[in-house]
Amino acid sequence: MTGGRLYAHSLERIIPGFAEEAPVERCVVHEKISFMNEGSCTTMDHTNVASEDPAERSYTVLRSKFDPWLAEKAEDEGANYIPGIRVDDLIMRDGKVCGVVAGEDELEADVVVLADGVNSLLGQKAGLVNKLSPHHCAVGVKEIIKLSRQQINDRFGCTDKEGAAWLLAGSPSDNQMGGGFLYTNEESISLGLVFGLHNISSVTKSIPQMLEDFKHHPMIAPLIEGGELLEYSAHVVPEGGRAMVPKMVADGVLIAGDAAGLCLNVGYTVRGMDLAIASGEAAAQAVIKAKEAGNFNSDSLSAYTKLLQDSFVMKDLDLYSNTPEFLDNSRMYNEYPDMVNSMMHDLFTVKGQSTPVRKSFLGHLRKAGIMNLLKDGWKGVRAI
Ligand SMILES: Cc1cc2nc3c(=O)[nH]c(=O)nc-3n(C[C@H](O)[C@H](O)[C@H](O)COP(=O)(O)OP(=O)(O)OC[C@H]3O[C@@H](n4cnc5c(N)ncnc54)[C@H](O)[C@@H]3O)c2cc1C
Repeated sequence: MTGGRLYAHSLERIIPGFAEEAPVERCVVHEKISFMNEGSCTTMDHTNVASEDPAERSYTVLRSKFDPWLAEKAEDEGANYIPGIRVDDLIMRDGKVCGVVAGEDELEADVVVLADGVNSLLGQKAGLVNKLSPHHCAVGVKEIIKLSRQQINDRFGCTDKEGAAWLLAGSPSDNQMGGGFLYTNEESISLGLVFGLHNISSVTKSIPQMLEDFKHHPMIAPLIEGGELLEYSAHVVPEGGRAMVPKMVADGVLIAGDAAGLCLNVGYTVRGMDLAIASGEAAAQAVIKAKEAGNFNSDSLSAYTKLLQDSFVMKDLDLYSNTPEFLDNSRMYNEYPDMVNSMMHDLFTVKGQSTPVRKSFLGHLRKAGIMNLLKDGWKGVRAI
């Protein structure tokens, strides 16, 4: 499960021009970021033509269509894909991972690349990752709602192949760390929210109820009116950033993607798929090198760590290492959405009273706390 936006650059390096044949939904040209409270919503809306450089584009994707296409590509190159089998354990000899156990079957291997997603139990068995902390993860819930191509084009101002990505802070996550998201697919929309799990004791409603209320918000309800619910899903998202990245290699084993915490929530976008793809590529390169050297111990496999450090994966995780702390601030989901919406309300309301707008703005700024705004503004600048 994913929200639905694939930044193309990682896959473009491996399969140039992939989007021409892959089942991608729409190229994102509309970007929206909103502050939302119970009755209001203030949105920053940016539109750009699709970049001429395919590596700079991003696409909405539905993984149930996209993943089988990608798996087929891997099979065409000689991979053997065994779906629907759970790996229960690792084969360990003298502290080295030598393969995997799945039910009755044992598969020996020179090296195992763990890519079993967030909460990697196999990564724990290999001694690479620790038990997942609620401070390092959010839970995401999502609905896929069917609308016609024309309804989507009309409601989101799109053409057939182009679409919108939208993130919303405030009431969707019950004014706690998290937020709503909406992506337009070809003939459906992906609508959901993520919620920082460490705040679960601070809310009075369940996460499914938050999604229900989000769908009934006066700004969202008309956008999904008449839509048919196709799918409901829930999944954990690793959101600890740099702080949750573990040791990446041990003897006979590497760890990649969400299993290694390679995911970034920077507030205005969530990225995990491009990091997972790039880490998969780096793991493949390191394994090829190790095979050439005929040695699969952790020293030999540490080429993987170096490849990641030299790539955007670790550079971006380092760059955004302050972001999780910046986003874990209740003012971002309470005071600021209220402040922005109250200011916009006053700006656009004529009451027959000659009150200067600056006076009412100042009142709202004071209510949110001018020092808080300066402090959080500075933290925000440092976080990005
Ligand atoms: C709500 C939500 C919104 C998101 N939005 C975006 C977005 O818009 N853009 C973006 O780039 N990223 C987004 N992400 C993050 C993105 O989905 C992940 O970063 C990405 O899917 C990680 O890929 P992965 O292959 O490492 O892990 P996963 O996609 O989680 O795949 C791991 C696979 O391993 C399987 N597995 C686990 N244990 C075992 C086992 N023992 N044996 C066999 N198989 C096993 C799982 O079933 C799963 O299929 C979002 C995530 C969520 C939950």
